[in-house]
Amino acid sequence: MTGAPENQIRNTLENQHLQTAIYTATGRLMSHRRAVVSPEVLPDFQELRTQANLIKKHTIENLDYYLEQFASNVAARGGKVIWARDGAAVVDFLAKLAKEKNVRLIVKAKSMTSEEIELNDRLGRHGLEPVETDLGEYIVQLAHERPYHIVAPALHKTRYEVADLFTERLGVERETEIERQTKIARSVLREKFLSAGIGISGANFLVADSGAIVLVTNEGNARMATTLPRIHVAIAGIEKVIPRAQDLAVFLKLLGRSATGQPLTVYTSFLSGPRRENEIDGPDEFYVVLLDNGRTRLLADRYKRESLYCIRCGACLNHCPVYRKVGGHNYPWVYSGPIGKIITPQYLGVTHDPWLPFASSLCGACEEVCPVKIRIPRLLLKLRSEVVKAKMRDPQSRLERLGFRVWAWVMCRPKLYEMLGAMGSAVFGNGEAWLRRAPGLMNYGPVKAWFSQRDLAPMPARSFRQMWRARRKAAQD
Ligand code: SF4
Repeated sequence: MTGAPENQIRNTLENQHLQTAIYTATGRLMSHRRAVVSPEVLPDFQELRTQANLIKKHTIENLDYYLEQFASNVAARGGKVIWARDGAAVVDFLAKLAKEKNVRLIVKAKSMTSEEIELNDRLGRHGLEPVETDLGEYIVQLAHERPYHIVAPALHKTRYEVADLFTERLGVERETEIERQTKIARSVLREKFLSAGIGISGANFLVADSGAIVLVTNEGNARMATTLPRIHVAIAGIEKVIPRAQDLAVFLKLLGRSATGQPLTVYTSFLSGPRRENEIDGPDEFYVVLLDNGRTRLLADRYKRESLYCIRCGACLNHCPVYRKVGGHNYPWVYSGPIGKIITPQYLGVTHDPWLPFASSLCGACEEVCPVKIRIPRLLLKLRSEVVKAKMRDPQSRLERLGFRVWAWVMCRPKLYEMLGAMGSAVFGNGEAWLRRAPGLMNYGPVKAWFSQRDLAPMPARSFRQMWRARRKAAQD
């Protein structure tokens, strides 16, 4: 990837611990997902994806209607909706609220939206103390880093690194057992929950017909952050709205499965309004901050607005060959992987990081696994053309153009394509061995760079077409 500091990317590629951590964690998430979306386990999985896509499409096309409905239902249950144009507006609101209520300590449940506006740093500048309470988020906050992954923020940290971090920042004995580390974090955070005046959460869904926010979590910290402090503020992007509570029957089946391979996450909380008279817990005040931060700019374009369907499951990151090599910190913004490549240029402008839409092989794995069927490769192509039009990147060189023309010409002639494929297979059967025999070639810049990170798979003995024909023939016989 050009654009991110080159030495930083090189360090990631050469760091074997990090490479193993990324590959292992994303591989585990992929296999867990595969196990719970297979046709034997969930026969209507593809149907659910289509339904989710249609619900999102309908909602985003009628966003103004559903947001107003949501806001009036929040008000009807005693809550308040704050409309925020950007991060500065969110911070202004929170700083004023904290001052009015004499609050300094704020506990936070995991929220990518708050990461997007760098909320912790900004609140810190107002003399406030925000503390992350999701374990992964707490670890990256202590390390002064941003999340490495949408659903697994500390995916890149080994337990030994966490042990050092806890000793350095919390002054505790070095403890390498994960269970004991969790206990340490738990005891520190328990105190914070009990003393905080404000609890901040994100929202996975905003339900228009009830005014409820829905939180999907695994650790239980979100329940404490939203019920123990006397004020709860939920910060959510405006695209999180869905029309009806019954739509959750679709989204909840998809989200846990796509994110972590769980049929349902451990906790699913429905929160609407402050504590009522007959309730034993819950906040005295309940606010929902609806954040735009560039989202409404996408609404006018029927292709781009698809990006607003995202439910932040992270499946596209786990399946992305680029993310799996470069990890989460080599992307320019808090959203990494395929979803980061499409929303960063759209929220921040294509001129912000013009290289980003080009950092993709367009293999299409992201679209295949996306639970709401966002056509990510198509959006990447659209963004690439915008970057070229904005003259932020040179169009293809003549040589590149010629290469693509020849390729297209061959691809339009199936017989020729097949013949060339067979010739290629016969001559370069094992491409890597062939290249290695060529004197000096492996030391040539681009070839050397390629093989420092990848292998070249040997060509199969039979082409796809040959296998297809054989299979058809066998089926007919
Ligand atoms: S783009 Fe799709 S796969 Fe990627 S995080 Fe969003 S919903 Fe999940």
